[in-house]
Amino acid sequence: MAWQQKNGFHQPKENSAPIPGRCDVVVIGGGPGGSSAATRLARQGFHVVLFEKEKFPRPQVGESIIPHMWRYADLLGATEKIQQERFLAKAGGIIAWDGRIHQLRFSSFGYTDPERVGLHVERDIFDDILLRHAAGCGAQVFEEVAVRQVDFSDAQWPVVDYMDRRGGGLGQRSIACRYVVDASGHAALLAHQFNARRLVSQEVNYLGLWGYYKNSLYLGADRQSHPPEQAPFVKSVTFITSFEDGWIWHIILRESTSVGLVMNRGKVRGMGKEVQEAYFRETCASVPIIRELLAPATFIEGSLFFRPDYSYYSEKVTGENFYCIGDAGAFVDPIFSQGVVAAMYNAAVSAWAIQSSFAKESRRAFYSKVAENSMLQYYGFSRLLALGDFGSEGVDPALVKAMMRAFRRNELELALAAAMTTSRSGNLHRMAREAGIYEEFGEDFGANKLDVITELNLQPPVPW
Ligand SMILES: Cc1cc2nc3c(=O)[nH]c(=O)nc-3n(C[C@H](O)[C@H](O)[C@H](O)COP(=O)(O)OP(=O)(O)OC[C@H]3O[C@@H](n4cnc5c(N)ncnc54)[C@H](O)[C@@H]3O)c2cc1C
Repeated sequence: MAWQQKNGFHQPKENSAPIPGRCDVVVIGGGPGGSSAATRLARQGFHVVLFEKEKFPRPQVGESIIPHMWRYADLLGATEKIQQERFLAKAGGIIAWDGRIHQLRFSSFGYTDPERVGLHVERDIFDDILLRHAAGCGAQVFEEVAVRQVDFSDAQWPVVDYMDRRGGGLGQRSIACRYVVDASGHAALLAHQFNARRLVSQEVNYLGLWGYYKNSLYLGADRQSHPPEQAPFVKSVTFITSFEDGWIWHIILRESTSVGLVMNRGKVRGMGKEVQEAYFRETCASVPIIRELLAPATFIEGSLFFRPDYSYYSEKVTGENFYCIGDAGAFVDPIFSQGVVAAMYNAAVSAWAIQSSFAKESRRAFYSKVAENSMLQYYGFSRLLALGDFGSEGVDPALVKAMMRAFRRNELELALAAAMTTSRSGNLHRMAREAGIYEEFGEDFGANKLDVITELNLQPPVPW
């Protein structure tokens, strides 16, 4: 790939290398969660084998990255490689919800370094950078190798069964390891194996339907629409709007624009692919602001994707010898772009627990419990933020309140401000109140840094 050459970190892909029969840690999946865990453990000197079923770069949705990501990139040693790619900067969000429009600027919450703002990334490239980085840090990365199941009958040496599809062949084999990190994304391999995967709500179950457009206008942080050529110069925002069936995102990328609908699944149940696409395109052409931004754009044929079974969690995210991280542990409606950062956070927590367990094996149940609590705190907080009242099933309020109190002040403030832009976060505010946050920081904590917009300038500005 040209971008790999540009970044100067050609890592040999383990195309035909033999897969060892034993290692310290097997990581399942090479998304941001898996790559981060593999990097952190390999940098500690552990023998890590990562299996990824696809050949990278592979398509992935989730292009809006919040600036918290840089903290995790620093810990991985990957910051420079991400910066070299020159992804488009995102300065925050503009959210039109039930007739009100708010603007949230990251700079108001302390994210002022122009090199460390939010990003709009092509996920195939972003994820590939992290995966190559993991390999560069010593993890053995095997693409086109799909894990089938894990046998935990020997608690000291779980056995991972995999299907090796490299070179077009099919070889079913296994590898023994001390710890398994399941970062298999929405496939949620272990949650399925344990029969522990639960939907967040039976009544409100969302799905995602998204596609890509060429030549869309985009909304800048200056509240004006701009042609795509200006994106490297006028910082963009992620634009979000509610509509009668749910909400829509609009994210400008370097070569295209990602637009997606998140809505109750009842709406498209039973629709064939063509009807689904017609519904998607008609909705995009009729919802205000999205309609104006897409006016000069053309839909990229064949680019429509669909993800049912939204917003789930696993009842079993850790054990003494396994950790389910990122989407393999839970998936949260992506309205506030938390998925990638959540996966990196979980990777950090599980790598810490595994490393500690190697150092003191007699305490590994304890480390696993600490990691589990940290992950459930994060998931719980994210769920309440994104889903509001119907997101509370399976959430432990005590953990969420403890997390709020432990948060960095600017991150908490940003989250609470974001929560005020939609109608979904009543639960979160109630918990913040119960946790004493408003008592400590004042009743307008977060809200005072949110701009209410009365007008957006959607006329294309005079060309530069
Ligand atoms: C519609 C939608 C919009 C989103 N928008 C955003 C956003 O704007 N911002 C954001 O931060 N997040 C967003 N997300 C969430 C984000 O995409 C995920 O949270 C993030 O990708 C999770 O990373 P991960 O490493 O856990 O999983 P993934 O990125 O899904 O990676 C999992 C990897 O595991 C591999 N795998 C699966 N099964 C196996 C197996 N058996 N063996 C080997 N490998 C396997 C897969 O091929 C994949 O590469 C969105 C999600 C959706 C569905």
